[in-house]
Amino acid sequence: MTETENAGTDLPHDRKGTVSMGPGWNMTGELSGYDAVAEARSVRNVLDIHWSRICSRLQAEVGEVEYRTWLKQISIGPVDGDEITLNLPTRFLRDWVRTQYGDRLSALWNAELPSIRRVELQVGRAEPVADPADAGEGGGSADAAPVAAVDERVAEARSELSRHDLAAPLDPRFTFDTFVVGKPNEFAYACARRVAERPSSPGFNPLFLYGGVGLGKTHLMHAIGSELTRGGKVSVAYMSAEKFMYRFIAAIRSQSTMEFKEQLRSVDVLMIDDLQFLIGKDNTQEEFFHTFNALVDAGRQIVVSADKSPSDLSGLEDRLRTRLGCGMVADIHATTFELRISILESKAAASGVAVPAKVLEFLAHKITSNVRELEGALNRLIAHANLFGRPVTLEATQDVLHDILKAHDRRVTIEEIQRKVAEHWNIRLTDMSSARRARAVARPRQVAMYLAKQLTSRSLPEIGRKFGNRDHTTVMHAVARVTELMERDTAFAEDVELLRRMLES
Ligand code: ADP
Ligand code: MG
Repeated sequence: MTETENAGTDLPHDRKGTVSMGPGWNMTGELSGYDAVAEARSVRNVLDIHWSRICSRLQAEVGEVEYRTWLKQISIGPVDGDEITLNLPTRFLRDWVRTQYGDRLSALWNAELPSIRRVELQVGRAEPVADPADAGEGGGSADAAPVAAVDERVAEARSELSRHDLAAPLDPRFTFDTFVVGKPNEFAYACARRVAERPSSPGFNPLFLYGGVGLGKTHLMHAIGSELTRGGKVSVAYMSAEKFMYRFIAAIRSQSTMEFKEQLRSVDVLMIDDLQFLIGKDNTQEEFFHTFNALVDAGRQIVVSADKSPSDLSGLEDRLRTRLGCGMVADIHATTFELRISILESKAAASGVAVPAKVLEFLAHKITSNVRELEGALNRLIAHANLFGRPVTLEATQDVLHDILKAHDRRVTIEEIQRKVAEHWNIRLTDMSSARRARAVARPRQVAMYLAKQLTSRSLPEIGRKFGNRDHTTVMHAVARVTELMERDTAFAEDVELLRRMLES
């Protein structure tokens, strides 16, 4: 397979001019996992969709580190009666997940599919799970499902799915009440509140929220959604741009684009999160543009988030960019020390665990990248305190957060990463920024991009620039590709881990 670096492929057209899913589709690696969604007909895929929803919840609940370490390894097995089997690759993982997360997994499955009452954890073959939001290759195989046995549940699941179809579950924790306001976000917060109070007011439509990762964009969008749907009169559709694309493509495949369009155009409020994902996806952008216009013309509210301002979102069609900038554009700035302290205080108070002010200050000083990481660190401390019944102290904090703090302490540079990686695979340093696409240089380059993302606080565009002015989507693709390869190929994973350790020490 050739290295296709850029994920710019949108729907390829075949000679007849109809949209086709040629083999080139999967080569970007980015759009795979798609089949599982489009063909969400089999039992297995219905279960996969539920599972991917459960995974998102778990990820939000336990944090990225815990999720990746333990829960990401789970693959779903068959359903038997009221019990679903979950597989883990090793006995150790199985035991750990059973003791730490067993009850939670049962509860979440039961909440998704009431007929499932128990979860059985087994050591078994780990298949990658079809997570539509995850850029994995070959997700969701459709085998091994005892189809007849679960017919009823499938029907139930399907009706559930169509009900939830557009109103992707809004996280109940993301409300205006739990959003801590400070200088960096007060304007965005005020705009969001205003839209929640009086949607479709002139001057506030569309509302365009932008800012770096983990600064509260999604939180504010969910808050708007929750507020508006509370009365039960307003219909809100919230989805990531990525999901918008998957839905659109799935609709094309199942020849139901009309339904898709109608469904979208019937909502009162449409919210699209992480719009930057649509860069380079021309057909999807076009569809979004038309939906956008139809809704605004009909006096409906649009809320969009992205990592950059409309004018900086190069790669977005000009007419769409222009329209996006026509309403209210609000940015969320990086956190300040004061905001970080307020957020920590509020989250600590909500957890019910006493965290000394000294510890909060220490965290606010040390973890400056974004709120998500700050929250993750605090959650880990609280989990530890609960698990071992020990009070939170500064010493305990340094101990428990040892790895996080170390990563934040040491500033690895991208140049260092490029040098070490080039040395390791014996390629020239200049190939890190060259246009050569041969795998022998492209793979190490992807690893270096991956490590740059993991070990530095540089943004995707900044990283792209350091690698011969590549686009941020190339970096995104590299990160997804390396993550996926590490899961599949242990030797490769060891190489990458070794490099990481060398760079971190
Ligand atoms: P983004 O969408 O900008 O990447 P999120 O909205 O997902 O970021 O925020 C990441 C995490 O940080 C979420 O758990 C969110 O609740 C929390 N968070 C971000 N900003 C705030 C804030 N001002 N107050 C409280 N929690 C916040
Ligand atoms: Mg977000």
